[in-house]
Amino acid sequence: MRRCARPALARVRLMADECLFCRIAGGEIPADVVATSDEALAFRDITPVAPTHVLVIPRAHWANLAEVAAAAPQTLVDMVRLAAEVADIEGVATDGYRLVANTGAAAHQTVFHAHLHVLAGRSMTWPPG
Ligand code: 5GP
Ligand code: ZN
Repeated sequence: MRRCARPALARVRLMADECLFCRIAGGEIPADVVATSDEALAFRDITPVAPTHVLVIPRAHWANLAEVAAAAPQTLVDMVRLAAEVADIEGVATDGYRLVANTGAAAHQTVFHAHLHVLAGRSMTWPPG
């Protein structure tokens, strides 16, 4: 069997060095943290587009939400639970909130570490722009 040229641990280290959200998850880059769980972290978006704009990321690196679902479905469940907790904390659970997972460049994904946007506090339009 052929072995991967780069051992798994080295790949994890590479991610932690190069990926913005891995660096936030590791505490290397500061963030305004709203809530945490064993598997995920919720922090305010640096460029909010709504009164509540919080990002929920897995602590481990996957490129997008579909990869999380395939590799670690329990982590995806944990992320959605944490998003609901954020909505409670922000006082928007009753009025409603939007979860967005831009997946791929054409869908405006700009950071390729999986994340959910929790958006609330203003009326939302449909379809999204
Ligand atoms: P995407 O466009 O990939 O769906 O979302 C990435 C989000 O990350 C954007 O809304 C952007 O404003 C946010 N973002 C980019 N850099 C930083 C940062 O350094 N800190 C925080 N808190 N958010 C960031
Ligand atoms: Zn990452």
